[in-house]
Amino acid sequence: MVIAPLRETNPICAFARNYNHVSLAPAMQIKKLETPVIIIGAGPAGAAASIFLTKHGIHHTVIERAVFPRDKVCGDACSGRTTQVISKANPAWLDEMRAMPHDFQPMWGMTIVSPNGKSIDIPLATNVASGMAKGFVVPRLVLDNFLFEKIASPFCTVYQGAKVGEIKREDGKVVVWMTYDGEEYEITAQLIVGADGDKSIVRKHFQGDDENEKTTAIGLRAYYDGIVGTQSTFIELHYFPEIPSGYFWIFPLPNGKANVGIGMLSSVVREKKVNLRELMLSTIKNNPRLSQRFANATLQDKILGWGLPIFTTEIPVSGDNYILTGDAASFIDPFSGEGVGNALYSGMLAADAIKLAIEQKNYSTAFLKKAYDDVFYLHLGPELKQNATMQRIFGNQWFFNLFFSKADKSKSLREVISCMFTNAELQKQLRQPWFYIKVLFNR
Ligand SMILES: Cc1cc2nc3c(=O)[nH]c(=O)nc-3n(C[C@H](O)[C@H](O)[C@H](O)COP(=O)(O)OP(=O)(O)OC[C@H]3O[C@@H](n4cnc5c(N)ncnc54)[C@H](O)[C@@H]3O)c2cc1C
Repeated sequence: MVIAPLRETNPICAFARNYNHVSLAPAMQIKKLETPVIIIGAGPAGAAASIFLTKHGIHHTVIERAVFPRDKVCGDACSGRTTQVISKANPAWLDEMRAMPHDFQPMWGMTIVSPNGKSIDIPLATNVASGMAKGFVVPRLVLDNFLFEKIASPFCTVYQGAKVGEIKREDGKVVVWMTYDGEEYEITAQLIVGADGDKSIVRKHFQGDDENEKTTAIGLRAYYDGIVGTQSTFIELHYFPEIPSGYFWIFPLPNGKANVGIGMLSSVVREKKVNLRELMLSTIKNNPRLSQRFANATLQDKILGWGLPIFTTEIPVSGDNYILTGDAASFIDPFSGEGVGNALYSGMLAADAIKLAIEQKNYSTAFLKKAYDDVFYLHLGPELKQNATMQRIFGNQWFFNLFFSKADKSKSLREVISCMFTNAELQKQLRQPWFYIKVLFNR
């Protein structure tokens, strides 16, 4: 990793900084540094922000709590938006990924199974230029490390294994106190990017909200080997009756392995006092559509859980001197639960907004709203809102069954559903209640 020089403003400080109380410890040196931009977190959102800042020639500092390669609890399924952003960063990186078939499983589509067992295949659009699948499934341990390695540049200074102690806004700038390798740092910047995921401390500092309200869904992930009946190129989403407001997934990985998991709205988990782990294991054991398929399958690792801050409505995602990206901004798709593509996309747009802000020396709420929030919501707002509507509509299992039963008998409706993630005109119709009324009464 190339470490870009940072400007040391005052390397010697007479007193140790203790974050919570006055310290009588012996005098300790605090390194004072200045950089145009600080990114907290180096997952997909932070990596994209860094990669595109480098493309814009803007110096920045990335502060990451973990040490890469690190795992992230996830379904590991990445659709076209992920490949779109990676290709924009550098098309050759997609070729590198394709040259790792032991890690990257091409994904050609998804199979959605309704609570009453009717299934529909939804192919994903093909990358016309390459004739390759647009999506893939890849363990996040691999994908995130792949992206993390790409942020190395003369414009980027990275601290991994670092602990952020405090964030403050002072004199129109942001100051971050950090402990890294046993040393204390005080880093000042014009802008800070919150790319620190579901429990974002940047969001908490600037928006002061309660993390429970943000973590709107919860999911568990497990790796299995030897599940039978899996089409290796289609991911499976099962909306079982015993999983209200959520779904069970099987996402095939290379070499006969699969990412298996369950996700539900946190409010329902709390209200019904669901033990998600027990529900997942009992579904695998007892559901007639799964039990035979898992009869000889083996669990490869621990079952792990994490929150999904899903998009509910357009909220401010920037303000004076800060921008939120990815999970820190609750950009997870409400219908599919996908967040990697949107995290990458928002990181890319954050870098574009930062370029404008630096050029115009304007880091205000009003400027960043126009340069970032409005641009993000212009591009992805309609899709996220549509999928929030679909999440509510298909959250009703009676409707879901009726809709899929109709589709089971109607080729044209099956084709409509197959195109719903790729056809922009159709997506507009899907936002209108009359579309569903027409489907139910006319077909
Ligand atoms: C069970 C489950 C299944 C999912 N399945 C899918 C799926 O199949 N497909 C999909 O696209 N999405 C899926 N998602 C969502 C996806 O995982 C997230 O949307 C995605 O990881 C968001 O990326 P991010 O960069 O915003 O945050 P993260 O990936 O969470 O990265 C945040 C980074 O910030 C670092 N960090 C956190 N706090 C600090 C701190 N205080 N200081 C410094 N660094 C910090 C973390 O170590 C981490 O590296 C799933 C999520 C869950 C929980």
